[in-house]
Amino acid sequence: MIRTIHGRLTALMLGLFYLAGFFFILLVLFSNRMYFREASQKLNRNIAKQIVSKQDLLRDGQVNHESLSLIYRDLLAVNPTITVYILDLYGHILSSSVELSSLQQDHVSMEPLIRFAGGEEAFPILGDDPADPDRRKVFSACAIPIEGPPEGYLYITLGEGEHESISRMLTGSHIARLSIFAVLSGIVLVSLVGLLLFRHLTRRLRLLTREVEAFKEGDFSEPETIVDDSTEGSGDEIDQLHRMFHEMALRIGAQVRELKDSDTLRRELITNISHDLRTPLTSLQGYLETLAMKADLADEERHRYMDTAIRHSNRLRQLVADLFELAKLDAGEVRYHPEPFSLSELILDILQKYELRAEEKGVRLNSDFSAHLPFVKADIGLVERALENLLRNALQYTSAGGSVTVSIGQQEETLVVRVKDTGVGISEQDIPYIFDRYYRSKETEDHHAEGTGLGLAITKRIIELHGRSIEVRSTAGEGSVFSFSLPVSTA
Ligand code: ADP
Repeated sequence: MIRTIHGRLTALMLGLFYLAGFFFILLVLFSNRMYFREASQKLNRNIAKQIVSKQDLLRDGQVNHESLSLIYRDLLAVNPTITVYILDLYGHILSSSVELSSLQQDHVSMEPLIRFAGGEEAFPILGDDPADPDRRKVFSACAIPIEGPPEGYLYITLGEGEHESISRMLTGSHIARLSIFAVLSGIVLVSLVGLLLFRHLTRRLRLLTREVEAFKEGDFSEPETIVDDSTEGSGDEIDQLHRMFHEMALRIGAQVRELKDSDTLRRELITNISHDLRTPLTSLQGYLETLAMKADLADEERHRYMDTAIRHSNRLRQLVADLFELAKLDAGEVRYHPEPFSLSELILDILQKYELRAEEKGVRLNSDFSAHLPFVKADIGLVERALENLLRNALQYTSAGGSVTVSIGQQEETLVVRVKDTGVGISEQDIPYIFDRYYRSKETEDHHAEGTGLGLAITKRIIELHGRSIEVRSTAGEGSVFSFSLPVSTA
């Protein structure tokens, strides 16, 4: 069983060509034979009439042997392939130019003779050949006498020479052999051209199959390009199929990578969450159990235990809230609704919110921007969240006596927000990692237990959702500046 399209097309084409060729040759041979029969009968249609008109062949129903033998001799000398018969009114053979004993049949069917005598023009009309009952031959015939009531018939079968049978035609006719050779050569030539054409047409299909297989073997990674580029741009169906496969393969590859990445991320997240929740939960449980067990604790100590338990539960709440928010941002579930708003007003609101905390810590909270700034176009809720994260960090990592300043500068079509502090700063080796989830510098890990390590990761994603990026400049021991820009609203 042929399995490839190329093989099937080739087999089908060759089969059709050879079948068509076979029928064509049969048709040529058959029509050739019929044409020669027709020509022979037309040429000799009057021969019987001419003989009857000149000779007295039957006299009172009796054969005139004398004149017949002359006719036999003359005719056979001119054309040895013809045979002459004298028939009675019913077709029985009374005399013949060949020995009567050598004949296989003693009579001839009258129906073709009547059609011939009736002047039918649809030549060739085939009559019996008494020498060979299986064969039919063209003939010439005439009633004897021509005028008056007939007494019998002159029946002459005409030889067809080399056209008598197909095999004889093939061996005898140079033209027939030449025609068949021409037909066969044509078929072979067309088959060869067809084969080359199919090879060329199916080549890209074969290459595309290899490409698909390679893509499957390669775990649906980047598709390999094998299909010939020289055919590109022809825009035929194979070309379109190749283009579509390539696009689909790229999309599948990207999705597979995305799935793998998100799977790794999910595993990391689960590990981290379980680790991060376990620590504050265990401490919380420890303090609560101690409180429950020690009924005789001094008031001061009880308060201390309760404060710590509350701090751990706050951290837990913050951690869960941050994780939830980050997961939503990563999953693309956070809706981004940009609208024009006053950035300076938003910052003043936030500063007011953190005033008390700053005061408690002994950190000065400053703002530095003009009162006539244009509106920005951004998601106000998300920007507020990002700014609060930065401000909370600045206050967190700045000791008493230090300051935190939020400023806005205008650069062409953007407003640049800077949150600057005079705090602990970030060491050079920590800077590349501070936006990673859960990353906390060694220094902060030791001195500021409250953080979750998620605030900057959330802030970075929020700014990226606005199509912008967040930057940081910091010197350990001197302070840090976090900055990002937002587009000015054109409305
Ligand atoms: P968290 O503050 O909860 O630890 P963040 O993601 O907000 O988590 O910050 C990650 C880390 O970046 C912090 O642990 C800290 O080491 C460093 N960091 C962030 N902001 C500042 C800042 N203003 N000054 C110094 N270090 C900072």
